Parts: sequence; structure tokens; C-alpha cells
Amino acid sequence: MISAEARQGLRQAFGRRLREGIPLAPYTSARIGGPADFLVAVRSAEELGDACRRLWDLGLEFRILGGGSNVLVSDAGVRGAVVLNQAKEVQFSESASAVTVTAESGASFGSVARRAVERGLAGIEWATTLPGTVGGAIVGNAGAFGGEVSQALMVADILQRPDRQEAWPADRLGYAYRSSWLKSHPGEAVVLAGTFALRHEGREGLQQRVAEIAGQRQRTQPPGASWGSLFKNPPGEHAGRLLEQAGMKGRRQGAAEVSSLHANFFVNLGGATAADVWTLIETAREEVRRVAGVELELEIERLGEWTA
Ligand SMILES: Cc1cc2nc3c(=O)[nH]c(=O)nc-3n(C[C@H](O)[C@H](O)[C@H](O)COP(=O)(O)OP(=O)(O)OC[C@H]3O[C@@H](n4cnc5c(N)ncnc54)[C@H](O)[C@@H]3O)c2cc1C
Repeated sequence: MISAEARQGLRQAFGRRLREGIPLAPYTSARIGGPADFLVAVRSAEELGDACRRLWDLGLEFRILGGGSNVLVSDAGVRGAVVLNQAKEVQFSESASAVTVTAESGASFGSVARRAVERGLAGIEWATTLPGTVGGAIVGNAGAFGGEVSQALMVADILQRPDRQEAWPADRLGYAYRSSWLKSHPGEAVVLAGTFALRHEGREGLQQRVAEIAGQRQRTQPPGASWGSLFKNPPGEHAGRLLEQAGMKGRRQGAAEVSSLHANFFVNLGGATAADVWTLIETAREEVRRVAGVELELEIERLGEWTA
């Protein structure tokens, strides 16, 4: 419950930029999620930092939303505030010792990677088809096709509660498979921007690799509203294979379906609720536990108010 005083403070801090009771489904890749009490969209890293400082100052709970491609937002929505990150400035730079790209955290990581490839720069080409923002990728240590943020990131510009801004080298982020210090400390710090190491490579070769990656995604992953892989791969195993073995392919709950193409992709066929998806997740976990004796761990994160 947000006090009248906090509400007033928010209105004073953000004025007309503050929107109230905004449904989050349109801001997520799965098109699911109820309203945020408050939503503030920011358009630069400076605005993002400023918004977070003000919210911490007001003592108000808030979360950053990037592309919404790794969160399951509850049907009841999010109490407190959501900061929608649309800070998108991108800068390539080249010196005698290094080629880098620095991107504000709301930039689409896929689009940054495609721009690098256009310039004949390698290092993040594996991310050309990755949904979501640079910030979301840095938080979740996103990876695909042999690449991972932890290998490519040089430094992240981090703002820590209540007002400490520092450049963190990648090795300070506690990276492991799809996890980081940031992911395990939600609400404690915000990624303002990230700088990635690149190197010159033949553009044609890079473009060919990107086409192969896109082709492989198209062949092996279903189109439509989803989160990509829902569960982490257990050590030495594939979550998709375990789910298939447990008979989950094609299983439905309401309008949520376990893809028949890739069992680790759960798809919103249109009008699925977060409760539908959560029921399907619980069923999937139970079946895999029963059939293979393996405990599946979620790769995505639940956001908002949940009762179950
Ligand atoms: C079709 C599809 C395919 C996918 N394939 C892959 C894949 O191959 N590999 C892979 O790793 N992932 C994959 N994903 C998942 C997703 O693309 C990544 O997890 C992505 O990096 C999430 O970024 P986002 O901006 O959408 O994060 P969000 O979902 O918006 O946020 C995720 C978490 O990070 C926090 N966060 C976001 N931005 C910031 C910030 N600036 N500062 C602090 N916290 C922040 C949020 O509060 C939340 O806790 C796929 C998703 C889809 C839909």
C-alpha cells in the first residue's frame, strides 16, 4: 500500500511524466501482466539515474523494465513503481589499443550487435537475434550460440542505492550461468550503461555467421509471444529435452502452451494469464521431477504481486 505522502512525493518528483495504473503486458515479450501502480519512462542514462535516486530517496519500491523478455509479470500487476528504460544512446569508439561500443542500458542489445556487425566488428555477433535491452542482458548474463555477456562486457556503469555511481569491471559482477550479483540483488543497483570489447573481422564472414544464427533460431525456436527459454539448463542437461521426455510438449493451460517445437519455450497463444503460465510451470516442474528426478530452476523471474 502506497501512503498518501509517497504518492504526493512521486507526483512532485515526476510531474506529468508519472503515469498511474498502466498495464504492463504491452511492455513484455509474452504480452502478459497487470498494471503497475506507477510507471515512469526514461529516455537517457542520466534520466534513469535521476529517477532511481528520487525513488530511493522517497523510500519507494521500484523495478526497472527493459524489454520485459525475462520477466513473468503477475495478473495483479506491480505495487510501487516501474521505471521503463528507453535510454538508447550508442557510441562506437576506436583507439590504438581497443575497439569498443558503449550503449545506454535501454538500447536493444540485438540492434547494438547488428550495428557492430555492419561495421565489421566482432565480439557480440551472437546477440544479433537476442530480444531485450543491454541492461537486461548485463543483469541476466545473457548468452547464445557460444557467446555470453560475461565474456564480452568490459565495464558496466552502475548506480547503487542510494546514490553511488561507479564503473564496475565485468569481474565484479559475480557472473555465472544466467546469473549475476545484480540478478540476485534486485532493486539494489541499476545498470546505466555497458561497454563491450570488439575486434575487427571480415564483415562478410560475420554476416554469414549472423545469417546462420538467425536460421538456427528460426528452425529450432517457435515464433510468437514467449520468454525464450523458461528454465535454466541443469548441469550437463538440456531443460528442453527433459521437458520433452516428461511429455510436456503441446501441453496447455488456458491460452498458454508448451511449444511443440521446443519444450523450454512456453507460448502465449493470445489472452494467456500469468496464472495460466504459472500453473503450467508448476506442472512442468512436477513432471520433470517425477520422470527424471531433476529439479528445474527458472531462468525467468516473477515480477509483481503473487499469491501462489
Ligand atoms: C524469443 C526469445 C528468445 C530468447 N533467447 C535468449 C537467448 O538465446 N539467451 C538468453 O540469455 N536469453 C534469451 N532470451 C531472454 C531475454 O532475451 C534475455 O534475458 C534479455 O537479456 C532480457 O533483457 P530485458 O531487457 O528484456 O530484461 P527485462 O525482462 O526487462 O528484465 C530482466 C531483469 O533485469 C532487471 N533489469 C532490466 N534492466 C535493468 C537495468 N538497466 N538495471 C537493473 N536491472 C535491470 C529487471 O528489473 C528484471 O529483474 C530470449 C527471450 C525471448 C523472448
